[in-house]
Amino acid sequence: MSGSQHNSMAAPVCIIGGGPAGLMAAEVLAQAGHSVQLFDAMPSLGRKFLLAGIGGLNITHSEDKTTFMQRYSAQTDWVERWLTQFDAEAVRHWVHGLGIETFVGSSGRVFPKEMKAAPLLRAWLQRLRSLGVKIHTRSRWLGWDAQGALRIATDAGEQQVQASAVLLALGGGSWPRLGSDAAWIPILQHRGVAIAALEASNCGFDVAAWSAFLLDKWVAAPVKNCALRVAGQVYRQGEWLLTATGVEGSLVYALSAEIRQQIAAQGHCLLEMDCLPHKTYAEVLAALQRPRGKKTLTKHLQQQLGLDGVKAALLRECAPAESFNDMAQLTAAIKALPIRLLHARPMAEAISTAGGVKAEMLDQNLMLKPLPGVFCAGEMLDWDAPTGGYLLTACLASGFAAGHGMLRWLASHESVGRVTE
Ligand SMILES: Cc1cc2nc3c(=O)[nH]c(=O)nc-3n(C[C@H](O)[C@H](O)[C@H](O)COP(=O)(O)OP(=O)(O)OC[C@H]3O[C@@H](n4cnc5c(N)ncnc54)[C@H](O)[C@@H]3O)c2cc1C
Repeated sequence: MSGSQHNSMAAPVCIIGGGPAGLMAAEVLAQAGHSVQLFDAMPSLGRKFLLAGIGGLNITHSEDKTTFMQRYSAQTDWVERWLTQFDAEAVRHWVHGLGIETFVGSSGRVFPKEMKAAPLLRAWLQRLRSLGVKIHTRSRWLGWDAQGALRIATDAGEQQVQASAVLLALGGGSWPRLGSDAAWIPILQHRGVAIAALEASNCGFDVAAWSAFLLDKWVAAPVKNCALRVAGQVYRQGEWLLTATGVEGSLVYALSAEIRQQIAAQGHCLLEMDCLPHKTYAEVLAALQRPRGKKTLTKHLQQQLGLDGVKAALLRECAPAESFNDMAQLTAAIKALPIRLLHARPMAEAISTAGGVKAEMLDQNLMLKPLPGVFCAGEMLDWDAPTGGYLLTACLASGFAAGHGMLRWLASHESVGRVTE
């Protein structure tokens, strides 16, 4: 990033949204010498980023670049354009530059040493203020007026703000009480911007109803060392959590795109759980066929296969009743226990949302084609990824790419870029 001064623009560059994407773009622009004004509707910045830090801020992932890129499934090519400018390595380097050490967890995920987001955000905001970024909280962007000025609602009333260029980094639609309430959708649609409907991603899913026994004994229990399969093919191992209404947790999040697709296509998704992924069908069957004498089947499952606790309870809950009289059928159930999911949990509870401003609406600089001078970054763009640090990495990378896109555009435009009716 360059530190040279830039004086030619009378109006400031305006960033709307003080989450990771907006803050990263503000840093790029301020370091290039631009006068930057940042507006956020909330009383303080980075609220979702801070929440992400509560469970241990997973800022990025250490896996190789090719595997990393595959996490962005349908939008790999698009996201790759930002990640080549600011990749996982650059994220770590940048975090270290803020005086925060990182470590790589056993799963390859990267965390700040203290696991929290607050020290990082504090250091970041201090850097931005020292670069001259003017931060306006409680300042909600409402759109543009007839002259093309930004309409900003503040406690003192509505203000009109002129901008040389604008970045919208307004987030997706999850956890709206933290600020990203997706109120930008109708404003941009009215200006001809095509938007893929937002959907809950990295979220839990509901079953019809768990039995009273399961609810009583096993809600919030982690289901460990298992694998989940969707549509007979997509298969992942890990851990998930049994909730009062269904399923959630990292393994479910990793499959949420596929689960959503199944529900959209057929009204439900049949999730298959392999309760013992480290044993083959033949090994499970052989163990079950060993003589059990007077022992109950519950004891037999526990002694021969180590199947007990929440997994045994789920087997009782979801396996067809007749399979408990036939060891081959019971083996099939243990290796592919059907869990029928009906719908995603509400978007407000999700970690992130899929959908957003469609890729074809933006040029190489991440500028909206129908609105010259207006750029977009972060989760409000139409890409999706599982948890694992991929969300924040892409938000930071798109903020970095949009910031540089704005620099290029500003350099080639003498006149003030405005949106008019
Ligand atoms: C519980 C939880 C845990 C998470 N954990 C992780 C994790 O460990 N790792 C990871 O990679 N990701 C994680 N995420 C996801 C990550 O936090 C988000 O993807 C990321 O914060 C999105 O960044 P953003 O800048 O695009 O938007 P946001 O962070 O949502 O910021 C958008 C900002 O825009 C402001 N805004 C919105 N509309 C307006 C308006 N009209 N006018 C003015 N301001 C407006 C909002 O107030 C907000 O400050 C987690 C999310 C949640 C909910």
